[in-house]
Amino acid sequence: MNDVINGFLKEKKVRNFRQQKNFVYFRWMALLVVIPLFFLVSDCPRTEKSFWITFALAILYNGFQTFLVLSKISKNWIKKFVGVAFYFDIVFICTFSYILNGIDSDIYILMFFVIAYYGFGKDVSSTINISIFSIILYTVSSFLVKADNIEQLNILKLVLRDFFILLVSYGVSIVILKVKKYDEMHKREFKLARTDKLTGLANRHMLEQKLEEEALYCEYSKKPLNILMFDIDNFKKFNDTYGHVWGDKLLSLFGDIIMQSIRETDFAFRYGGEEFMIIIRDLDLEKAKSVGDRIRRLLEKQNLFAEEGTSKGKVTVSCGVAQFPTHSDDIKKVVDYADRALYYAKEMGKNIVISYDEIGKLRQVVQTDMDAYVSK
Ligand code: GH3
Ligand code: MG
Ligand code: MG
Repeated sequence: MNDVINGFLKEKKVRNFRQQKNFVYFRWMALLVVIPLFFLVSDCPRTEKSFWITFALAILYNGFQTFLVLSKISKNWIKKFVGVAFYFDIVFICTFSYILNGIDSDIYILMFFVIAYYGFGKDVSSTINISIFSIILYTVSSFLVKADNIEQLNILKLVLRDFFILLVSYGVSIVILKVKKYDEMHKREFKLARTDKLTGLANRHMLEQKLEEEALYCEYSKKPLNILMFDIDNFKKFNDTYGHVWGDKLLSLFGDIIMQSIRETDFAFRYGGEEFMIIIRDLDLEKAKSVGDRIRRLLEKQNLFAEEGTSKGKVTVSCGVAQFPTHSDDIKKVVDYADRALYYAKEMGKNIVISYDEIGKLRQVVQTDMDAYVSK
């Protein structure tokens, strides 16, 4: 189910990027509109110079941050840097609060947005961390104002504001927990809807989506894509002889054999009843055929369920292989060609792997043998 996981990671990446981008816009708005407004309305006791220096630093920092986010550079140190950016936001907000009249300034409200944004993008423990950081820094900055002007610190007001910060982080944490629970449920349902219960392989629903994706990838990378179609031989007879329960066990066993035989980048599906399909990237036709043959031999040599005390003898499988874009540049046709090769493998006596371009050749060989036989 690598594809499902990859899909989620990709989705998460896009979500994270969108969230970061939105927050960059928010920061510019707060920096260029809200903070100067606070500066205008508060009777700023600090020197104007310290305000402008902090303001200039914040603009520089914001510019750098915007560049990193929009340029989408995905180096590790940048990711770490973007991660601590929210802490810098708190530093700037507390500095502005210190300059703009300390505890009497309402600019601390901006911290709520930072905590919410940061928390929703991460998890509960990160929310708690940034809240503790905010409370400590805000308290320190308020006490620094007190050192400047004893009259200005209203302890009750400070405690109340620290409490508000705590309340916001509590609310954010609750929402995060709820969303996480819903997310996990959604992921489980998503996986179930795309998984075949009996074998644990992906089902046909997933196949349709995957085929399109893989064909696109192969067109883009100019590498071939192999379709291997399997069908267990005389499965109806096996079912009739031993019953459906053992038939199901055989399907599940074959699913395991397939999973053990393929690479991380290959995809296996249960195509229908006793039919399976594997999609193999970047492999030439002969090698893809040998993967099919390895799976065929693995099933063939099984003394079925002997370890469970009641041997069910041996079962074989046939396989048809076709390649995209070698045999057709329409992926649906390639699937059809793999199916035809499989049908031909059955015609040729089963327990064999045949590729689409062998169909004609083998027919010729059979014909030549027949001619030789007749002319004898
Ligand atoms: P061939 O070698 O030509 O493939 O013959 P076959 O008997 O394997 O093929 P056929 O299509 O005649 O029979 C397939 C059987 O697979 C019929 C159906 O009852 C059985 N089958 C389909 N799905 C399941 C399943 O989920 N569990 C079990 N136990 N049997 C299934
Ligand atoms: Mg069949
Ligand atoms: Mg069959």
